[in-house]
Amino acid sequence: MLNMKNLNLKDKSDKLYYIGGIVRDEILGKESFDIDLTYVGNAIEYAKNCDIQILKINEPFGTVRVLVDGKEVDIASTRKEIYEKAGHLPTVTEIGCSLKDDVLRRDFTINAMAKNYNTGEVIDYTGGLNDIKNKTIRVLHDKSFIDDPTRIIRALKFSVRFDFTLDKHTEELREDYLKNINYDMSFKRVKKELIETFNLNSQKAYDEFMDKNIYKLVTKKTVNKPTVNIENLINKYKSEINPKNIWLIYVGTLIDLTNLELTKEEQNILNEYKNLKQSTYTSDFDIYKIFSDCTTEAILLYAILDDEKNATRFLDKLKRIKISIGGEELKTIGIKPSKKYQECFDYILKEKLNNPEISTQEELKLARLFFGL
Ligand code: ATP
Repeated sequence: MLNMKNLNLKDKSDKLYYIGGIVRDEILGKESFDIDLTYVGNAIEYAKNCDIQILKINEPFGTVRVLVDGKEVDIASTRKEIYEKAGHLPTVTEIGCSLKDDVLRRDFTINAMAKNYNTGEVIDYTGGLNDIKNKTIRVLHDKSFIDDPTRIIRALKFSVRFDFTLDKHTEELREDYLKNINYDMSFKRVKKELIETFNLNSQKAYDEFMDKNIYKLVTKKTVNKPTVNIENLINKYKSEINPKNIWLIYVGTLIDLTNLELTKEEQNILNEYKNLKQSTYTSDFDIYKIFSDCTTEAILLYAILDDEKNATRFLDKLKRIKISIGGEELKTIGIKPSKKYQECFDYILKEKLNNPEISTQEELKLARLFFGL
């Protein structure tokens, strides 16, 4: 995590500003995830003239990533943009515009403040300071969500992260957009925001996502909100979940994620869930056999959507039951390796699921019994 105090870059131009999230976070007294600077002019030329290491240049957007004191810092040129195709990346129309024009292309007032790098003066053209004071998320213009619907999820993310609420007019604009979604949008960015939002593991975010129809950005299908408290469930099994997948336990409840480009691991979790949904079981042994092959993430989805009682029974109790003898032990009691080994292990497992206290000696006894010895 980062804050402004630890950046050491010598600037002689006086045209350099901290911008966006880092200014917001400092006012809120919070650490930031990244350091964004904006230069009133061409940031790429500016960086080339500074005594700093350049890591990456994005010419069309006029941005440059540099290394300062071992930290990666993004410096953007002030720029104007237009949304030629709603829902997609904007087109840059001017690089080196005024600071005011630059902040007016941003998402919310709380993210549209700049702080002069040298003097520390905060420049607030849109009322961001006041909105921070009032814990309010407000768009900068009425077309904001039409231009970029990912902002709807960003608003959700910030509202949960800071415990802010949407300004009434912003909420109305969101409602209007969600009644008339243009699905021709960049889902890659939607996914990124969903991950950042739901990896915070917040039932509040999920309630808002479902109750206010924000989920419709992901799927056209109508989905009923499950009654299970997902946050509590995730907290209970946190140590068994990859933190990167928490979002999928929430968003996976929509089932239809065809718009989001899932990684192999993510797709695998969903497939496992779908297999669980199709499975039938009548005994603990069935549950053990079916659930043992699945990730905890898939089992939690199944708990939320289908059968919480048996899914959590597996995670809490059955999963921990293991037979302690293996092929080696069977060989030592004189049984030659064969397909029968597996049948024998299943036989012992069935007994052990009824009575988890069975000792290794008793397991060997059961093995002998199974082979008629
Ligand atoms: P975080 O703390 O999650 O990193 P951030 O505010 O720094 O939040 P970034 O995604 O790093 O968010 O974006 C940096 C800045 O760029 C934002 O503060 C905002 O001013 C602007 N921005 C980001 N995404 C958008 C968007 N979709 N539309 C308009 N402006 C945006």
